[in-house]
Amino acid sequence: MQQEQFLQSLWQVAQGSWDSGVLPSSENLARARSSIPQSLPDVGASLEFVQQHILGDIVPAFNGGSISPNYYGFITGGVTPAALFADNVVSAYDQNVQVHLPNHSIVTDVEYHALGLLADLLRLSRDRWHNGTFTTGATASNILGLACGREFVLQKAAERKGSQLGSVGEHGLFEVLQELGLSGVQVLSTLPHSSLVKAAGVLGIGRANVRNICRDDDPLQFDMEQLEQELQRTDKVSIVAISCGEVNTGRFATSGVEQLGRLRWLCDKYGAWLHADGAFGIFARTLDDKPEYATVKKGGYGIDIVDSITGDGHKLLNVPYDCGFFFSQHAELATQVFQNANAAYLSAGATDGPSIPSPLNIGIENSRRFRALPVYASLLYYGRDGYREMLERQIQLARAIYQWIFDSPAYIALPEANSKAELVDQTFMSVLFRAKDDALNQELAKRINETSQMFVSGSSWDGAPATRIAISNWRVDVVRDTALVTGVLAQVAQT
Ligand SMILES: *Cc1c(COP(=O)(O)O)cnc(C)c1O
Repeated sequence: MQQEQFLQSLWQVAQGSWDSGVLPSSENLARARSSIPQSLPDVGASLEFVQQHILGDIVPAFNGGSISPNYYGFITGGVTPAALFADNVVSAYDQNVQVHLPNHSIVTDVEYHALGLLADLLRLSRDRWHNGTFTTGATASNILGLACGREFVLQKAAERKGSQLGSVGEHGLFEVLQELGLSGVQVLSTLPHSSLVKAAGVLGIGRANVRNICRDDDPLQFDMEQLEQELQRTDKVSIVAISCGEVNTGRFATSGVEQLGRLRWLCDKYGAWLHADGAFGIFARTLDDKPEYATVKKGGYGIDIVDSITGDGHKLLNVPYDCGFFFSQHAELATQVFQNANAAYLSAGATDGPSIPSPLNIGIENSRRFRALPVYASLLYYGRDGYREMLERQIQLARAIYQWIFDSPAYIALPEANSKAELVDQTFMSVLFRAKDDALNQELAKRINETSQMFVSGSSWDGAPATRIAISNWRVDVVRDTALVTGVLAQVAQT
């Protein structure tokens, strides 16, 4: 009971108004830093002491990242009340979601069904897409996507050559490439997120083998001719990765079924794997048919013809860190890459109902946190309509800010648009801009963040500094936050 009361009071702190600014004060940071012991004490302290230390010294030096609706750095999301509740249950009961043991615990069933509910939210048909896993984030999901892709494209190459040696999971990348007379695997994309490049580094593909195949007039769109030339190469096999939501602009690399159909056709023709990094962009699929969202909705249209999809839970789904998800249309491939070999005692018992894979055979970890429970809780709490309404508020705020910037003498909206209508039409939940005055622009993000009323990320666009406002918190209030953001921007431009 004491435990419950304690958690209750913590939640009130977390859910209450965050009035200490989006960044901690330098005094609070210094105090917290000096309170950290420099070595492990021989004798432990009381629980009360530890709690007071954490709440009194450490917590005041946190930032408002997820708590404040005005923290627009990175793409941080927040924590919905239902997710917060469930996450505390996860810690309190500390279940290990590792092996599907249906007579021992319900947790693998809940995780499996949470993935199904998520597929419903994202309008991915369960027939083809109820397969995948929860991860620590989109980076891990991109590792899964490229790992499955690597396995697939090399198995295809082995088939073409009539070789039995195509599985990287079994034989290793070096032996397989040598057997097939190939020099490597390449990843073809347009403005991919840095984590995709990292994934290539981890998987032996190599960061240098992630290539931008961009059109000259639009760096987010594939140059289809160049893409086909790369796919035709006989020394390399390829994975094509779609930026389903580019992290600077929030815009999409594809716009509809026709373009995706062409990508699918090319990948099938040349035995390539088609992956979509939809960390935040995949949520465009939650929008309905309102005309004002038609253009952004197109960014997610047809994406379900790819082979694998990366998504983030701790961004637009607003569940706590860390949580991502991975969907794949090829159930068997994940097992070929990630199977936990020779552990017969870990095999699942047979049951009625759906055949639920043991998470340890289809993802990176063996022991795993029950991070699907906050997802499950939040999906039940909001339903399809609640999540759509949340995203609409985020988009509306981004559009209101962009309109103000477009009219402002001090700022330029990026990418540069011909008209306000065009800009608004293309805007998802990100705002990219810079100051016209170069001196101000050099330190724009810093100046905005110094107000501590809101937090933005510094970025770059077309070779010059740019500032990004990424809107992803469930607590967005369009009127209140438009006033706050434009007020801060006006104030920064004047000083
Ligand atoms: C944030 C992001 C990632 C990385 O996600 P993490 O959850 O930080 O691992 C990957 N791709 C895109 C497009 C992103 O926005």
